[in-house]
Amino acid sequence: MPQQRVMITAAAAGIGRSIARAFASEGAKVHICDVNEVALDAFRGDNPDIAATHVNVASEGEIEAWFDDALDDLNGLDVLINNAGIKGPTAAIDDIDFADWRDCLAVCLDSHFLCARRAAPVMKAQGSGVIINISSTAGLYGFGNRTPYAAAKWAVIGLTKSLAREVASRNITVNAIAPGFIITDMTGALSEEVQKTIIGRIPLARVGEPLDVANAVAFLASAEASYITGQTLCVDGGMVM
Ligand code: NAD
Repeated sequence: MPQQRVMITAAAAGIGRSIARAFASEGAKVHICDVNEVALDAFRGDNPDIAATHVNVASEGEIEAWFDDALDDLNGLDVLINNAGIKGPTAAIDDIDFADWRDCLAVCLDSHFLCARRAAPVMKAQGSGVIINISSTAGLYGFGNRTPYAAAKWAVIGLTKSLAREVASRNITVNAIAPGFIITDMTGALSEEVQKTIIGRIPLARVGEPLDVANAVAFLASAEASYITGQTLCVDGGMVM
């Protein structure tokens, strides 16, 4: 199989980092971006073979510049993984500032649009491609006091299904992954008691690891998944079924 050319957003830490390493370990040529300089420095130190660029995915101009450089280097694009997402505010809707709503939507949703918009013409010209959007189980049910995050994650699934229909005839698949509870900086350090409560709600009786998500991404990007598009795959230990 020819070397896969891969771009991943917000991947200096957490789930994105695990995805980047999974692809690189299979010989893929990988470009990641992230906004956190400290995390980027550490990532570059640990992964010298992966190109890592400072990008705030809330900025259209920074995404455009990243794609200009990365596409130039990769000379095509086989896999785009829209991994970027932030928690957004946890509050009743009447206590949420519009600016915080907009920030959450910009990272969790707008960045997926902006990257897919750059990837699509390249993949259409090649006649092949894979786009994987990281949603959340919060995009599958109502989530009180987290309305910006949940609304964005539902929207990511809508974007996925609509784009999947739009580009299917060009041999491009578009799928979403809905992680459940995965231990990263987003979920934070948890006391034993809180972990126990969470595990009590997970049928497979353990919290998820970033690698659990990376394995699902690798499958959806593989030739074995070439007949799957427009789907949302939960990686959640069975919480949503
Ligand atoms: P994380 O908080 O560990 O962050 C991953 C990276 O995103 C960090 O390196 C951070 O610097 C980067 N980032 C944040 N804002 C950015 C921006 N504006 N521009 C560029 N980079 C930015 O997150 P994670 O837990 O690895 O989550 C990855 C994805 O998975 C997100 O879309 C998240 O919503 C989704 N998800 C996570 C969980 C979970 O339990 N961890 C569950 C469901 C869905």
